[in-house]
Amino acid sequence: ANEDDSLAVKAPPLPSPLRHSKFTTQKMRILVTGGAGFIGSHLVDRLMETGANEVIVADNFFSGTKDNLRRWIGHPNFELIRHDVTEPLLVEVDQIYHLACPASPIFYKYNPVKTIKTNVMGTLNMLGLAKRVGARILLTSTSEVYGDPLEHPQKEEYWGNVNPIGVRSCYDEGKRVAETLMFDYHRQHGIEIRIARIFNTYGPRMNIDDGRVVSNFIAQALRGEQMTVQAPGTQTRSFCYVSDMVEGLIRLMGSDVTGPINLGNPASTCEFTMLELAEAVKELIEPSASWKLVENTPDDPRKRKPDITKAESILKWEPKVSLRDGLPLMAADFFERLGVSKK
Ligand code: NAD
Ligand code: UDP
Ligand code: UDP
Repeated sequence: ANEDDSLAVKAPPLPSPLRHSKFTTQKMRILVTGGAGFIGSHLVDRLMETGANEVIVADNFFSGTKDNLRRWIGHPNFELIRHDVTEPLLVEVDQIYHLACPASPIFYKYNPVKTIKTNVMGTLNMLGLAKRVGARILLTSTSEVYGDPLEHPQKEEYWGNVNPIGVRSCYDEGKRVAETLMFDYHRQHGIEIRIARIFNTYGPRMNIDDGRVVSNFIAQALRGEQMTVQAPGTQTRSFCYVSDMVEGLIRLMGSDVTGPINLGNPASTCEFTMLELAEAVKELIEPSASWKLVENTPDDPRKRKPDITKAESILKWEPKVSLRDGLPLMAADFFERLGVSKK
């Protein structure tokens, strides 16, 4: 499929008179929860750039920022609402991309009760909204639903190995419940659902201090601090660049499948141990950088890599950006935001 096909957001059926009268000849109206965050703001860019959509962002700015959306503020097709998804939301939309949720351990462990509320009550509210207006809803779930996986790479059929009472559970069990809610609303109320299981994604606009590994290493290297490699450093992750991720989300929304579908980058050019990642940052971004081994957090998965056979065959999607190409793009953004001079 060419670029234009992937951007065409197909109209869902028209279940109610309300939608029929209001939306048939008009732009697709799309709600993006969490749209002020890292992935959400890149998604908003793509949806807005087509000119074919009206986009409403609902975000409580817990980990996101208005700055990520500044180019759209004031645009007639764009609306930004300060809203917490744990509260009901009344808007009339055709599609919902439901991303709102703290995504990095520092943020989700800061207030675990709020994190699980966001996953459970927030997803329930967005499903109630989807039911009322007949909208299609896409949930950004996570590879964390596989926990510390006993299968490698992870296929969608794998049920996972998750600690239900650990410090990460507010996030990973929260997302598991969110997936359950999505399927129950689908089976019981006929809601059109799409579930993406996102694997580690990086790129410009990641929160500089959110504690995830790529943002940490780049920020540390640019600030002249030692990169903190959490022991043992041989654990692996496969890293997907944000533009590839957004393309996958848009294709999934436009497809006929509920998912869950893994989205991530399993290419050998993107699977790194944390030690290799530190070396790559040193080589590509800051030659004077160094690293130190520090203590890890409990339940840290030792290995993670998506099986994206389904996304490739059903969505005709494949990630294109290698880690060595993506890291400098991200570093350019960090240079600017950290106000350090580029070498
Ligand atoms: P992010 O923190 O940059 O974005 C999350 C956004 O949600 C922020 O703007 C935040 O303010 C908002 N938010 C949080 N709680 C909210 C609430 N109760 N009400 C309204 N808004 C709220 O993180 P991200 O990396 O862009 O993640 C986006 C989504 O993708 C999340 O659902 C996350 O679980 C999922 N995901 C991301 C990754 C990744 O590697 N980045 C991996 C797996 C899954
Ligand atoms: N809801 C919402 N916006 C809507 C419709 C519903 O936020 O436009 C919320 C509603 O407040 C409820 C949740 O979604 O808490 C689930 O709604 P549903 O109608 O499925 O269940 P009920 O209201 O019957 O519990
Ligand atoms: N990590 C690290 N140094 C850091 C932050 C994270 O070595 O400063 C490691 C962490 O132990 C994990 C991997 O990087 O093995 C990915 O962590 P991250 O929080 O980015 O994402 P996760 O895959 O855990 O969701």
